[in-house]
Amino acid sequence: MATLFVTATPIGNLEDITLRALKVLREEAAVIFCEDTRVTKKLLAAYAIRTPLRSLHAHSSARRIDEALRHLREGKHIAYVTDAGTPAISDPGAALVRAVRAEGYAVCTIPGPSALTAALSVSGIADPVFVFYGFLPHKKGRAALLREVAASARTAVLYESPHRITKTLAALASLCPDRQVVVARELTKRFEEVLTGTPAEILRRMEADPRHTRGEFVVVVEKPHGR
Ligand code: SAM
Repeated sequence: MATLFVTATPIGNLEDITLRALKVLREEAAVIFCEDTRVTKKLLAAYAIRTPLRSLHAHSSARRIDEALRHLREGKHIAYVTDAGTPAISDPGAALVRAVRAEGYAVCTIPGPSALTAALSVSGIADPVFVFYGFLPHKKGRAALLREVAASARTAVLYESPHRITKTLAALASLCPDRQVVVARELTKRFEEVLTGTPAEILRRMEADPRHTRGEFVVVVEKPHGR
């Protein structure tokens, strides 16, 4: 049956791609729909994959989804990738998955890297239960969600950008100064690092050396000890 392959791609290091993902992108998909063709072109070039690329991102019109469905109706397989990691995890992809399933075509996962699981697995936090917030909103609702994280008995995981990482840590330092935090930065890349401590301790390290504030971040706020 014609299938949409929802395919995970590297979160930095281009070698972090599965054999199955390469086979799907190279041989099985007639077309690869992607978030940003400029980003995915680099991945395809690294593996000499020549499958045609089409963009399909959060702001794409319904026509792009129709175009994807057209390929399936013609009996062709298609793949969907985002700029990094697993599609539809704080990324576009869910609308395409729903549309494809609604038409009765198969949706198949090609699992692989995600910043969420990569960060948790090096966090050293053994808690099997966590709440994933993705990106907090920039303005409206941000303060309330940070208060929710601080007051919660659950481990929380957030995605964060270099523009807001110190602000978020400063907010946590005042809302929940005793919580243990893990900041996973630039995972799988040249400047990969994992900073641990209270929010204020991590903030001090960042202020002492702003290189710690560059790149992409996952912030894990461990549940309060003793709860
Ligand atoms: N769907 C992707 C996934 O599964 O990892 C996440 C996409 S989201 C638009 C991008 C965010 O993920 C970044 O802003 C950052 O918070 C996090 N992220 C992505 N790559 C990362 C990396 N190499 N190291 C740390 N965080 C990363």
